[in-house]
Amino acid sequence: MSAASHVVALTSILPGSVDAAGRPATLGVLGGGQLGRMFVHAAQRLGYFTAVLEPDAQSPAGLVSHHHIQTDYDDPAGLAELAQLCQAITTEFENVPAQVLHTLAQARPVAPGAAVVGIAQDRIAEKAHFTACAAVSGVACAPYAVLETPEQLQAVQANQPDLLPGILKTARLGYDGKGQVRVRTAAELAAAWAELGSVACVLEKMLPLAAECSVLVARGWDGQVVSFAPQCNVHVAGILAVTHAYEGNLPPALAARAREAAVAIAQHLGYVGVLCVEFFVVDDGSEHGGLVVNEMAPRPHNSGHYTIDACDASQFDLQVHTLAGLPLPTPRQHSPAIMLNLLGDVWLGTDGQRREPDWHSVLSLPGTHLHLYGKPDARAGRKMGHLTLTGPDVASVKAVARRAAELLGLPGLDAS
Ligand code: ADP
Ligand code: MG
Repeated sequence: MSAASHVVALTSILPGSVDAAGRPATLGVLGGGQLGRMFVHAAQRLGYFTAVLEPDAQSPAGLVSHHHIQTDYDDPAGLAELAQLCQAITTEFENVPAQVLHTLAQARPVAPGAAVVGIAQDRIAEKAHFTACAAVSGVACAPYAVLETPEQLQAVQANQPDLLPGILKTARLGYDGKGQVRVRTAAELAAAWAELGSVACVLEKMLPLAAECSVLVARGWDGQVVSFAPQCNVHVAGILAVTHAYEGNLPPALAARAREAAVAIAQHLGYVGVLCVEFFVVDDGSEHGGLVVNEMAPRPHNSGHYTIDACDASQFDLQVHTLAGLPLPTPRQHSPAIMLNLLGDVWLGTDGQRREPDWHSVLSLPGTHLHLYGKPDARAGRKMGHLTLTGPDVASVKAVARRAAELLGLPGLDAS
């Protein structure tokens, strides 16, 4: 499906250019989180001015942008100001009301478009899309059933026992493992659905995972596509903890299939911008395991943060290029990398009091790249920053990552 009919045609927005009224080329982003902050950094390096629409006065992106429009995401005056200031607009979180993107697209080029963001916001629509393009992507999603009515619940309980044990996931607003309940029996399923408020859900069969990986794809207004090699991800308590990005992180044939599938999924959507597609590697008895598509994010992704320090074009550089209609460089990874997520827990001592992590020791290790997002309060589970380790070879990157994880008390490195 394509959102082209809603999109104002884009002519390239040249970096550092000024319009007839002398106003500098300005790129806008809805949302003020860390993804918006790293987009702003990438845009500013190219000479663009930036505008962030975000209600929070102290947001990571708002703090570093030329303009911060401090209104709700659906505030008509705020959106009008954003459209007036910017030549093109993107979003940094997928739960922005799709209608907002649709409204903005009447005035300015918006990427990704409302239609594709709407699909990524809803697991039911997302799985229908993956299923619709399985013939071209070559990858199916986990067996699942849609649960929106008590009748559907009964039908699943009676007719699809093979979906258990499974994971019940709310169709909307789930992230970092939130909005999910693991269920073993038909009775647990009914209880879990009630616990989730009987909202629209999908029940997914629990698969034996050998690994998880994700692929970043960037696609321009003109259909040009580039992608990164898949990175392997380790989650702890539903939140990304570690990303392994180096050759050999996956069997080469599997990596190639994941990359091709992600590109096919982006093409099939007529996607414009940076898309992250997450996959499961399933232990199915075959030599390298089977590939199953899990979900997609219509934006740069936590698992792609390593690209800032390990590649000659990052996921945020490509986001800027796609939005501004610039040619897309084929990204080249120049160093093996491991990314460690820094959650608020790193700042909390065993007594629950805030303490400063030992950055002095961490930064004395070779190949460390510390990124902090400027969030004032450290809370358990809150994404505060990340640390990317790069080096001349995989063995030395792994050794430094282990040492850094030890110094910071970070989980997830041994599980891989
Ligand atoms: P979120 O939006 O929270 O990232 P996901 O659907 O990606 O939701 O689920 C979070 C994590 O739960 C996954 O990364 C994976 O580790 C695990 N998980 C999700 N679905 C399944 C499944 N069908 N089988 C096994 N593990 C799963
Ligand atoms: Mg996920």
